[in-house]
Amino acid sequence: GFQHNTLWALAGTTFSEIETSVRKESNMTREFPASPTEKSATIGGALSFGARGLRSYKYGSVSDFVTELEYCDCNGNLHLCSASDSNFHDLLGSEGMLGIITGVRIRTSPIPKFLWGLMFFFPDSLCAAGFADAVKSIEHISVFELLDSKSFELLQEFRSQISSISRISELPSSSQAAIYLELESDCEETLEETAEDLLELAAEYHGDPDAVWNVVGDEVETFRSMRHAVSECVNLKVASLHAQDVLIRKLSCSCFFPNKTRQELVNYYQDSLAENHLSGVIFGHIGSGNPYVNILSHSAEEYHNARILIQKWGKDAFEAGGHAFSECGVGKLYRDIFQHIAPINLLNKRIKLKQKWDPSGLFNPKNMLV
Ligand SMILES: Cc1cc2nc3c(=O)[nH]c(=O)nc-3n(C[C@H](O)[C@H](O)[C@H](O)COP(=O)(O)OP(=O)(O)OC[C@H]3O[C@@H](n4cnc5c(N)ncnc54)[C@H](O)[C@@H]3O)c2cc1C
Repeated sequence: GFQHNTLWALAGTTFSEIETSVRKESNMTREFPASPTEKSATIGGALSFGARGLRSYKYGSVSDFVTELEYCDCNGNLHLCSASDSNFHDLLGSEGMLGIITGVRIRTSPIPKFLWGLMFFFPDSLCAAGFADAVKSIEHISVFELLDSKSFELLQEFRSQISSISRISELPSSSQAAIYLELESDCEETLEETAEDLLELAAEYHGDPDAVWNVVGDEVETFRSMRHAVSECVNLKVASLHAQDVLIRKLSCSCFFPNKTRQELVNYYQDSLAENHLSGVIFGHIGSGNPYVNILSHSAEEYHNARILIQKWGKDAFEAGGHAFSECGVGKLYRDIFQHIAPINLLNKRIKLKQKWDPSGLFNPKNMLV
């Protein structure tokens, strides 16, 4: 039920259902703005790791919207807890290893009156990331995403297989990178002023002001679909590479380095990919400083080298006081890497939590910990 602008949702509810329900129950005055771009994902799954949606730059992660949690412990007993309870924080991001989330109460937020989507194009990702560093008027920005040239190459390659992008008459050329911003406010003049500032700034980073794509209101769905399609294209690409060699799997990370600017981060990823003769796609949450990097391996040897590189990136991130796997999760695929690079206090915390919550190892055995 919808009460006091909050919604109770069972853990298996999809984000598509949550979004529809909140809009309907609030008579189209409120929304749930924290969904990941994959709307068929469930709220229980998203809370099990640090899922962050397209609008996370303004609204934060899915878990930031949870006020109450119901869970089933390893003895089959149901409990309810809220943010003042340590169990609540133990469960969020625990990758399903401590208990089963059965239901959640989530906050909602008012639907902004005005919503604009602006896609700025740059000659390359470094210019785009430089622009991202220079953006200061952050108050009205809700979406702040990077699409590198490889993202556009993949969109072209898989265009016919993804209906949401096959409808777009002309996709951006793969010789450029883009920053996709959404601006929202209850005052249209504010958006006009912000957009003008951004256009001037983009020109300083070799962005062509005449080439900016802009949409208003519900039309942003086209750009959101395009951004989501990059994730889908990566999955399709990895599936085709996996079909050629079963040892090849998806390899992605979204490290956060507190000591790097956005441009330094993109440069760091690009340089290390080039040094290791690997190719990757860099896209996603550049505004929050943790875009996704997916390494596309074309052979088992490349996949092996790519895993070593992911390990190095994760180690560097942890050493800098940042984090390595929060959005993608550790699971089983990165378990060995996590054991090698996680700071000892983080590893000990995870082990202690597992012993406290699930001493007989019922939930997600062999996840994260050996
Ligand atoms: C094309 C694509 C684009 C995506 N884009 C984004 C994005 O922009 N941002 C982002 O953050 N993510 C993104 N994702 C990831 C998406 O958010 C996750 O797939 C989703 O959040 C996980 O939910 P799920 O229902 O698929 O969970 P599952 O894959 O079923 O489960 C994920 C983990 O959670 C555990 N789990 C599931 N339900 C529960 C429960 N009730 N209680 C305890 N543990 C549970 C499972 O055991 C498993 O370990 C994307 C995924 C795809 C396919």
